[in-house]
Formats: sequence, C-alpha cells, structure tokens
Amino acid sequence: MYIVFEGIDGSGKSTQINLLKNYLEKNGLKVECVVEPTDKTVGKVIREILTHEDSTTSNVQKTLGLLFAADRMQLMNTIESYEKEGKIVLSDRSFYSSLAYQEPQDWIYEINKFVKNPDMVLYLNIDLDKSLKRTTGIDEFENKEFLTKVQCNYENLCRNHNFKIINANNGVNLVSRDIQKAVAPLFDI
Ligand code: C5P
Repeated sequence: MYIVFEGIDGSGKSTQINLLKNYLEKNGLKVECVVEPTDKTVGKVIREILTHEDSTTSNVQKTLGLLFAADRMQLMNTIESYEKEGKIVLSDRSFYSSLAYQEPQDWIYEINKFVKNPDMVLYLNIDLDKSLKRTTGIDEFENKEFLTKVQCNYENLCRNHNFKIINANNGVNLVSRDIQKAVAPLFDI
C-alpha cells in the first residue's frame, strides 16, 4: 500500500505523516516512511539546487523536474521492497508534486510514466498566508507568487483526481483525526 501526502511547502505533511504512522502502528500495522527528495545520490543534488539556486525560475524548475523524476524512479525500488514485506508506505510527496511544481504537465507525465501510481493521495489544503508563516522563504515576494501558482496547479489536480482533501488550516490534532478517518476504510480499522 502506497499512500502519498501532497501539499504546498508548510502544509504540515511531515508532522501528519509521523502522526499517521503512530496511529497505524498502534493498530498493529507495519509502516515505513519515505520522502522526496530522497537522501540518495540524486536527492542530494536536488537539495543542493534547492538550497543554492532560485528554484522559482523556469530553467531551474525544468532541471528539478528531470532530477525529481530520476530520484523518484530510484525510490520505487525502496517502495516495492517495503510493499513485498507487507508494509504500508507513507510518502512525503510523489509525482503529483512535480505536476504542481514543475509544469508543463504533459512533459511531467511523460518523464514519470514508469512511476507507480499511489493507492491514496491525501492533499493537505492550507491557506497560502498560513503556510508562508511556517516557511522561511529567501525572497518572500517571489516565493508567494510561485506558491500561488503551485497551489492553483494543486487545485486543478484535485478537480481531476480522486484526492482526499484535508483541511490543513485546522489544529494538528483535528487534521490528524481527519486523515485517520480518510485512511481507515483501506485497512478495516
Ligand atoms: O516537502 P517540502 O515542503 O519539505 O519540500 C522540499 C522543497 O522541495 C520545497 O522547497 C518544495 O518547494 C520543493 N519541491 C519542488 N518540486 C517538487 C517537490 C518539492 O520544487 N516536485
């Protein structure tokens, strides 16, 4: 089972992934967490670029699109081996992030065509201003403009895909309960 968390920067994905992991484990399930970008070779290059370059420009976004696709392809090995061991995989981001961050979409679909489709996508929907308060942008104006576009792309994805939309403006515990309700039918808990 491959369950994915999506959302803009500062939407609370990592906190909620840990809470869901605890909840599933308390219910006797085996869980592993993965994150994009990974800590493997390509993932490290991605982190370098995110730290040292202006990732809101179109050329850097194209570079990131290619690198994320490669990093993700390698991650599929890890995910598949966890699944073979009967574990649930919770992933912080997936190719849907690339559809939101690194358009154009037809190109992103093409370079990710061998990537596994998630069994469930939880979209943490948060107001932009709230998320910006939680993140430290290098250039606040550019960051806001860029994330507005990313959020708009996510909204289009929500319209066209069967995402579970979670109101991430709520407090941590309420968000966590909503997520538990969304995943419970998958596991009969
Ligand atoms: O998940 P998190 O918010 O920590 O994202 C790490 C960084 O990678 C963020 O700055 C995000 O904007 C960026 N990112 C990206 N393209 C993706 C996924 C993440 O530029 N496909």
